[in-house]
Amino acid sequence: MEATIETPIHEFPEPDGPRYRITVLRAGTFRLDGGGMFGLIPKSMWSAWTPADAENRIGLATNCLLLEDGTRRVLVETGYGDKWSPKERAIYALAERTVVDSLREVGVEPEAIDDVVVTHLHFDHAAGLTRLDARGDPVPTFPRARIHVQRREWDDALANRSTMTRTYLASHLGPIRERVALHEGVAQVLPGVAVAPLVGHTWGQQGVFVRDASGTLTVFPADLMPTVHHAHLAASMAYDMLPYDNMLTKRSFLAKAADRGWTLVLDHEPNTPRVRVTRDPRDASRCLLEPLA
Ligand SMILES: [Zn+2]
Repeated sequence: MEATIETPIHEFPEPDGPRYRITVLRAGTFRLDGGGMFGLIPKSMWSAWTPADAENRIGLATNCLLLEDGTRRVLVETGYGDKWSPKERAIYALAERTVVDSLREVGVEPEAIDDVVVTHLHFDHAAGLTRLDARGDPVPTFPRARIHVQRREWDDALANRSTMTRTYLASHLGPIRERVALHEGVAQVLPGVAVAPLVGHTWGQQGVFVRDASGTLTVFPADLMPTVHHAHLAASMAYDMLPYDNMLTKRSFLAKAADRGWTLVLDHEPNTPRVRVTRDPRDASRCLLEPLA
């Protein structure tokens, strides 16, 4: 009998409704082990794509989005925040810069954010949801915002279901408990802003789908594909809970993105986070990422 494997559901929403002015926010940079970031790909290949430092780490960004439709301000992702010890900062080369710095550079204070959509709750995406107050206690960074996340991700984070035991931390999640809106599967979380599960990196990771001012669909696929070098189907990460599912999700996502002309913004891409997807002319089953200005 042939074995059957349950494949993840691939449903990618294309919301209508309000169009948003989309600003890519370059929050802090950090560094992770290159082997961890490329999984099965040997170092002889990945080090030619992106150079490793003396500690075998590669440079990464924490890119976030600011969405504005004239009445509402929505933040997608929050980066790693600033609640880190000097030792933790050294391990990951965490820059002294957060999404709050990049928001202020475009004239937006944290109090002006109405909604925050987080793709998943690993530290480099969700630690920025809280900051330390004058007494050293963690409090919400965006005091007025509702936080949108998949129910599955929230449950897994509270239960610390991860191979990384120190990524779902109570100091990131406890203070925002009352402000969370939990979504199940494909959902319109706000007018013109939709989310859909992108299963693989975690069970409950979601991508964000929104139209820009010109009507082009912009998609934030999070850690489905963190840099331009992760379009390669074998480029899984050691941090993926379900690497095979991630590959299947990535394959159908890339095919749809190429066919529909989506713009993608890649979360950890340090150089060219905005990309377009095209079919490889030498091999139609493969896709290429083309940087946009
Ligand atoms: Zn990440």
